[in-house]
Amino acid sequence: MGGAHHPVFARGLALVSALALPSCRAPVAPPAPLWALLTVDTWRFDHWTAARSPNFWALGQQGEAYTNVWSPIGLTTPAHLTMMTGLQPWEHGVEANNHHGFSLPAAVPTLAEQRPGWDSAAFVSAWPAGPEGGLARGFDRFEGPEQGERDGRFAVDAGRAWLEAHRPDQPGLLWVHLYEPHGPYVGDGPDDPSRYAEEVARADTLLGPLIDALVARGATIVVAADHGEILLEETCGRQHERSVGDHVLHVPLLRHRPGISPRVDGGLRSLADVPALLAGEDPPARPYIIAESGMCEPSCAPGCAPPGIQGRDRVLIGPSGRVGLRPGRGARVEGRPPVEAAEAERLLRALPPVPIPAEPEDAAGLEALGYRPREGGAGR
Ligand SMILES: [Zn+2]
Repeated sequence: MGGAHHPVFARGLALVSALALPSCRAPVAPPAPLWALLTVDTWRFDHWTAARSPNFWALGQQGEAYTNVWSPIGLTTPAHLTMMTGLQPWEHGVEANNHHGFSLPAAVPTLAEQRPGWDSAAFVSAWPAGPEGGLARGFDRFEGPEQGERDGRFAVDAGRAWLEAHRPDQPGLLWVHLYEPHGPYVGDGPDDPSRYAEEVARADTLLGPLIDALVARGATIVVAADHGEILLEETCGRQHERSVGDHVLHVPLLRHRPGISPRVDGGLRSLADVPALLAGEDPPARPYIIAESGMCEPSCAPGCAPPGIQGRDRVLIGPSGRVGLRPGRGARVEGRPPVEAAEAERLLRALPPVPIPAEPEDAAGLEALGYRPREGGAGR
């Protein structure tokens, strides 16, 4: 007797212990919530595939793949603020990028501001995602380039270091932004579409290890694009801010969290649903989406007026049709819109006018970010 262990009992204990421990492959939720928003700038929905973005594809297969999600605008600052506030650009008030002088009104709270006391950090990769527009508000730490863009590995490495230092008993919010797929495209391919695909693959490769670390920590992860891109669909390729085409507004979005049941969700969603998705909610599908172009450039959108950020197309998008409204041209119906054309036109005309920008365009700064100068020079 004494202290000798009964061999069967000891083996039974070991078995119970093994069953009680979470395995590495099935992470459990951490004691405090841990949310991660990973945004890939300018990532088109049709480049969310097993071949072009294998890490994002696999995570979507293991989690929830949202296949009918729409950006409100092809501009980085307003679209990201929609993800950070749950509001559309004409609701949160930032109708163009931060370098036009637009900034989030103090009365509109951000996701990070709504979670005081959380351990929070944001690491971004380009100026339009910088602090001037209000995207930094509420984060304990915010890092990004003061001008232009930077290689995505800096944001990913900073995000991984933050995660390693983050205590699991403290609520955490992490935002990592990559700019690789935004022009100018770097790659070995012979043309813009092939080099763009290389940039998407590069963003996917860069984020892979961070995704693995977040999954292991039991994080709720949302991966999304702020908008897509024009490749060959329009004469003005690589100028997503001037279009309301599907290739610009239809974006990838996925969610992964512990215990999730894999599924594909085809309900109509907006990037404004991101805060609810991070919070673990299941926002209902929308009957329609309203979106707008970020800028009028007549060579890109014939007949739009006035040139610049105030003459923009607006569009109401439903599951099987859309109604577009170009100032001075009237409504254009495609497919079967979810509401009568007259009602769609009334809804689009009821949106507030775009405010006059506080600052003129900085042509050199915009070119450094991959934007092409507006025809007729850099005005407002
Ligand atoms: Zn962007």
